[in-house]
Amino acid sequence: MTNKNWQHAPIWNGKFSPINAAFLILTPALSVALIPVYLHVNGWHWGYFFIFSAMTWLTSLGITAGYHRQFSHQSYDCNRVVKFLYLIFGAGALQNSALKWSSDHRYHHRFVDKEGDPYNINRGFFYAHMGWIFYKDPEERTYDNIRDLLKDPLVLWQDKYYLPIAVTTGFVLPTFLGYLCGYPFAGFLFGGLFRTVFVHHGTFFINSMAHVLGNQPYSTKVTARDSWITALFSNGEGFHNFHHVFANDYRNGIAWYHWDPSKWLIWSLNKFGFSSNLTRTPDWQIYKAKLENTHEQLPKAQSELALQCHQQLEALKANIEEKIQQLAKLRREFPSRETKIRQRYFRKRLNAESAALKRTWREYKTLAQLTRQLEH
Ligand SMILES: [Zn+2]
Ligand SMILES: [Zn+2]
Repeated sequence: MTNKNWQHAPIWNGKFSPINAAFLILTPALSVALIPVYLHVNGWHWGYFFIFSAMTWLTSLGITAGYHRQFSHQSYDCNRVVKFLYLIFGAGALQNSALKWSSDHRYHHRFVDKEGDPYNINRGFFYAHMGWIFYKDPEERTYDNIRDLLKDPLVLWQDKYYLPIAVTTGFVLPTFLGYLCGYPFAGFLFGGLFRTVFVHHGTFFINSMAHVLGNQPYSTKVTARDSWITALFSNGEGFHNFHHVFANDYRNGIAWYHWDPSKWLIWSLNKFGFSSNLTRTPDWQIYKAKLENTHEQLPKAQSELALQCHQQLEALKANIEEKIQQLAKLRREFPSRETKIRQRYFRKRLNAESAALKRTWREYKTLAQLTRQLEH
């Protein structure tokens, strides 16, 4: 089936998946039932928290920096060892193989909020969060959208042996870590069972909460939103409005202070030579999206003062657009193979233009805020 036809294919065939449903219900139910009993009998030990944290970081980064930013979006290149680690720890998060995950995710971006989006938020918060996993995929759904991944032997290996890999890294490893500390069952309970539930819902929140909570600085054409709260539970994936507009960027939180450990990991790997070709959206493209989005949402002027603000905003917009064009031109002309002196000269000009653009954008943003307040 071609991707074009897929747009009209049913999103849900109604076939219940008892295995998925049982797993998603039993893991939290068992955690809630067993943890208090275990703690009552054996008492608390900080080692439980250490195993839980270590397993959470490893498996959730396997999903966010690996399954998501590497396999689904190919937002950077990385070496085979890193890929292998992503695949084994990503499997330990018990969210299916990288192939299946990436295929679903590419459909999500392609058909976001519409039929064909596997976790379409318009079908309700619960459906987007985890309800969709209770059902089998529509028969029409194919792997047409992951042809690149189907050529990767490591990805195919992980798909073939997904279950034994997932059980080994997801449950055997934390049990073994617990065994080394003298409490194997606690290792299983905190690092395996409860950690699976915790990482599950951290990821699920991206499909539900990140399409409901937060603001939309880059586009209101998609439901995706930027939120610090969601970012905190998902290694930085909560800057979801930015991500839906610039999906190939290796970052989700673009400011240095945005909580985005996945970005920091990829950046650090690059510094040690383990990753390369990190895709960064040029700043002028980001300003362009913000400007157009803010301008579209300006309320209609209803007073003389508001009318004057609108005129001023139009002038500032034209000024910013001019600066954006200038910056884009400079970036295109950046000398890649010329002397260092010439490169330094270009970099200086780029920085100056970039700073001027930032200043004018701030002016525009402040005036736009004032105009909105005037009309409310
Ligand atoms: Zn999304
Ligand atoms: Zn994505």
